[in-house]
Amino acid sequence: MGSNDQIPLSRRQIVGGVGTGLAVAATRSAQASEATPPAARPLVDPIGQYPKPPFAKQSQPWPGLAGRMEPKPDHGETSYRGSGRLAGRRALITGGDSGMGRAAAIAFAREGADVAINYLPDEEPDAAEVMALNRKEGRIALAIPGDLRDEAFCQDLIAQAVRGLGGLDIVVSNAGRQQAHASILDISTEQFDWTMKTNIYAPFWIIKAALPHLKPGSTIIASTSEQATDPTPDLYDYAQTKAATTNFVRSLGKQLAQKGIRVNGVAPGPIWTPLQVSGGASMEKLEKFGAQTPFGRPGQPVELAGIYVQLASAEGSYATGQVYGSAGGNGLP
Ligand code: NAD
Ligand code: MG
Repeated sequence: MGSNDQIPLSRRQIVGGVGTGLAVAATRSAQASEATPPAARPLVDPIGQYPKPPFAKQSQPWPGLAGRMEPKPDHGETSYRGSGRLAGRRALITGGDSGMGRAAAIAFAREGADVAINYLPDEEPDAAEVMALNRKEGRIALAIPGDLRDEAFCQDLIAQAVRGLGGLDIVVSNAGRQQAHASILDISTEQFDWTMKTNIYAPFWIIKAALPHLKPGSTIIASTSEQATDPTPDLYDYAQTKAATTNFVRSLGKQLAQKGIRVNGVAPGPIWTPLQVSGGASMEKLEKFGAQTPFGRPGQPVELAGIYVQLASAEGSYATGQVYGSAGGNGLP
């Protein structure tokens, strides 16, 4: 209890207090007439917000298209609203055609950033949708297709992004390869190498090439996974690449701190994306996808968009070497 609480208020103090109250009220109404407060948004129960299992059986050849999934994932196409948090920023997002990458690409553009996306040539239909949406925002939207398993392409990707955007401030290393195998005996050396090249080598090549262009205040964000700390038995190779990703976020966060470059990770739980319907999950897992979480449903890419924005923006300025989780109640980031 503060000392003033014990002293009875004099009449003068009360009158003064009331006077101050009126002054505050008058200031508030003057402000209200200048800026209308945003309309109240409905309180939404996260449990019923998005589709729940059981899901229809479906399968696509790798890497899959969001446009062919049933139900279609929500990347924030009609819902994400920006507020200038990334105005003037220039971002490159790998795997920006679908899933978390597309959600980040749409959100970044609506927050005022110019965005380049990388994806595989087979994903052109998904990429074209992102390009159209981001151009509507009046932002530069750059499409740079190519295979990240090639070091020379990774270097060229950065060069093209820097040229097309006039520089680079945000690198989102999000592309990933995931194929489920019941047994380690089912994983060929070629498959193992494909996963390692995509998930471990490509981020290494991309970050090395990007670093000379990143000024203090720039950020690197990696898509890791709850698999890094809580691996499932059918993702032997994939899960270890995510442990590596979480680990490099922590080492690079420290290494680049003195340069003023922040490095953070996002660790999703089960999210409804093409990666899962093109070999990432078994059909049995897919039909009940997300059922194992306390929310009883998978996440949608848009539900993670705000995390990527937060980590990319100056509002996240004290966060580096961190991994932010979003897993419907499961997972340890
Ligand atoms: P997604 O299929 O929409 O995105 C993955 C993207 O990776 C593809 O769109 C593709 O463009 C890109 N890619 C893969 N191999 C490539 C290559 N060789 N060259 C260039 N691009 C390549 O699926 P998503 O789930 O949004 O995946 C994004 C990230 O999120 C991945 O790193 C994934 O491991 C991670 N993640 C996903 C989940 C999930 O449940 N969906 C959970 C945890 C982490
Ligand atoms: Mg894709």
